Amino acid sequence: MRVLLVGGGGREHALALGLAGDPAVEAIVAAPGNPGIAGVAELREVTATDPAAVAALAVETAADLVVIGPEAPLVAGVADAVRAKGIAVFGPGADAARLEGSKTFAKDVMTAAGVPTARAYTCDDAAAVAHALDEFGAPYVVKDDGLAAGKGVVVTDDRAVAQRHAAECGRVVIEEYLSGPEVSLFVVTDGEAALPLLPAQDFKRVGDGDTGPNTGGMGAYTPLPWAPPNLVDDVMRDVVHPTLAEMRRRGTPFAGLLYVGLAITPSGPRVIEFNARFGDPETQAVLALLETPLAGLLHAAATGTLGAHPPLRWRDGAAVAVVVAADGYPAGPRTGDVITGADRAGIIHAGTRRDADGTLRSAGGRVLCGTATGPDLAAARDAAYRLVDGVALAGAHHRTDIAAAAVDGRITIPS
Ligand code: AMP
Repeated sequence: MRVLLVGGGGREHALALGLAGDPAVEAIVAAPGNPGIAGVAELREVTATDPAAVAALAVETAADLVVIGPEAPLVAGVADAVRAKGIAVFGPGADAARLEGSKTFAKDVMTAAGVPTARAYTCDDAAAVAHALDEFGAPYVVKDDGLAAGKGVVVTDDRAVAQRHAAECGRVVIEEYLSGPEVSLFVVTDGEAALPLLPAQDFKRVGDGDTGPNTGGMGAYTPLPWAPPNLVDDVMRDVVHPTLAEMRRRGTPFAGLLYVGLAITPSGPRVIEFNARFGDPETQAVLALLETPLAGLLHAAATGTLGAHPPLRWRDGAAVAVVVAADGYPAGPRTGDVITGADRAGIIHAGTRRDADGTLRSAGGRVLCGTATGPDLAAARDAAYRLVDGVALAGAHHRTDIAAAAVDGRITIPS
């Protein structure tokens, strides 16, 4: 199988490693890729959000499968353009990707499907914002309606901060605050059949102890020793299958990766958000434990044959991913700094670039991520931090508490 992988972040490096480990894969082309992905794929330049350009590249490279990593190309209709060329593509069309592209659309689908989620209002002006903030009270949850790379959400006790964020965004969704630990559940689907991956937890805030502003994600681990044993089955029954059925009913079946972001509240799991693609950095941890060949799995989802796919196989143990971020991230990351110690197994590249002389430099906010497995969560965590400690990058910062509360048994579901 020849695979074209679209994207160039840490998620795509993890996907590239998974695809390269599938014996059915003979070649991978990544566009644009990154210096880490270059170890297992040929890199090509492309504007990832240009449907015609990506479809042309898929034809030119004789791809049997196109895997689209980020959300922006999906929302732009890249999967539709590739599918129109008769090439199998893992990722939903633009109509179905609205589950991520519009928070209002996602809420509509959840309501129609009876999916448990936070009560919410879509607000277009200051009066509607004020009314919604009053109704729900603090903590206030204000979300940009459109794509914002995970950074369009403000959760705050300060009403003025909530109002300012709403004013800056224009159209926002304001919703009830959900308390409880968060879970990311990735589901591979062909629109009808659906296979859940291992549930993971990510860390959105920049600082230890969940302090500071939201980021794209500072680390992740899987599995979740504290999760209720029936969590995945319940979410498949109450969230995933009703949502997929509603999308089919609307004539826009969702095929690809349905990312279900949940809060485990005292009344059970509630959906915080849907995404239309793998999460970053949870993918780095989850795929580190997947034993089933990745390309075959994604190809089955892309060709409507997932119902005949064998059950997924997982490695024993646990996986932890720790993100190293650039100085100034998330507000204003500095780029161009030299990185050393990053050319090692387990270092997943995200925002890096390589000079002609081979020097590796930072080129984004989240620069790279140390990903390790171990027989248990404590061992995986130690190994991931050893990887991170071996990297030198001026001004870099990372969280020191990824997976710590889970290792110490400090995560509880509020009652
Ligand atoms: P989202 O982009 O919707 O995933 O939101 C980013 C982060 O904001 C989530 O991972 C949560 O930590 C937080 N968040 C979003 N919605 C809520 C909510 N209704 N209640 C509590 N926290 C939320």
